[in-house]
Amino acid sequence: MKKILVLGEIRDGELRNVSLEAVAAARKAVNDGEVVGILFGNKASEFASEMIKHGVDRMIVSEQEELEQYTTDAYKQACLQLLEDEKPDGMLLCHTSSGKDLAPRIAAALKTGLVSDVTDIEGEGEDLVFTRPIYSGKAFEQKSMNSELMLATIRPNNIPALKKDESREGDVSSVTFDIKDLRTVIKDVVKKTSGGIDLSEAKVIVAGGRGVKSEEGFKPLEELAEVLGGAVGASRGACDAEYCDYSLQIGQTGKVVTPDLYIAAGLSGAIQHLAGMSSSKIIVAINKDPEAPIFEVADYGIVGDLFEVIPLLTEQFKKE
Ligand code: FAD
Repeated sequence: MKKILVLGEIRDGELRNVSLEAVAAARKAVNDGEVVGILFGNKASEFASEMIKHGVDRMIVSEQEELEQYTTDAYKQACLQLLEDEKPDGMLLCHTSSGKDLAPRIAAALKTGLVSDVTDIEGEGEDLVFTRPIYSGKAFEQKSMNSELMLATIRPNNIPALKKDESREGDVSSVTFDIKDLRTVIKDVVKKTSGGIDLSEAKVIVAGGRGVKSEEGFKPLEELAEVLGGAVGASRGACDAEYCDYSLQIGQTGKVVTPDLYIAAGLSGAIQHLAGMSSSKIIVAINKDPEAPIFEVADYGIVGDLFEVIPLLTEQFKKE
């Protein structure tokens, strides 16, 4: 494999970490070949050197207006033009909401294959093997591709980013695409929640379920998450009961997360919830019911009332 393009992502003015993880995946796949990074949006030039220092050889950036916010049409047109110009052997995207939307459209337009939600890449050249979860994370399959263009999306928090090398340098070229006939134009973005750590990239998640009992009941979880530098998540039970927003929902019909530490408080561990978090590296369950299914996947279990246990944990972590 000689050349791979990596489409990084900027969100809320920050380069998403999964962009750097996709660069690491590309480096694994391409070995001594070329990794070309791509960034769109008005901060693209600013973050180009960050991508280079994490393993990219050359950057292509575009700060044109149509690419400031993600839209399927504009990003698809820009990526197809890049693929036509660069003729790479492969392209990696982030397995985020926009990457999940864009990658299949590129694949369909080019009539090529796609491996989505990749958690590891091994081998070289034509023997490249992609690992991805199936059956809601209960098993993993390994796939290889025989299409001319290797197209894949990389799941956040699985392939570690390469160590930053301050001495790395590379060309940054700025391009303008011929983007036309857009069916969607974003005029304004109204955010429901502001700030906070992105759930899908968080290293620590404190998740609450119906056992949290109210919106107010999430407060101790928020405090613990803050002390641990993590994010708050929820079961669908808690979202349905209107204790929190659906943007926090983890599971089969919510977000899929793989943090280093997942603290599950007052949630039973329904199969649909496990689908979104069972690949977490360490799972701690807090539940009053010793028979709760969450204990079957937990590395550590605390049988007790979350309103007693969580403040104790917060207090202890504050001391350390
Ligand atoms: P419960 O099952 O009611 O569990 C509450 C738990 O809290 C109990 O185990 C109880 O012992 C414990 N508890 C109560 N009080 C305390 C306390 N004070 N201290 C400690 N523990 C306490 N669910 C998801 O989460 N994500 C999904 O994406 C999802 N998708 C679904 C898709 C489909 C098609 C369907 C049919 C369902 C889906 N569900 C999903 C719903 C899922 O089946 C469960 O209903 C839901 O996960 C239950 O939420 P819960 O664990 O918070 O509530």
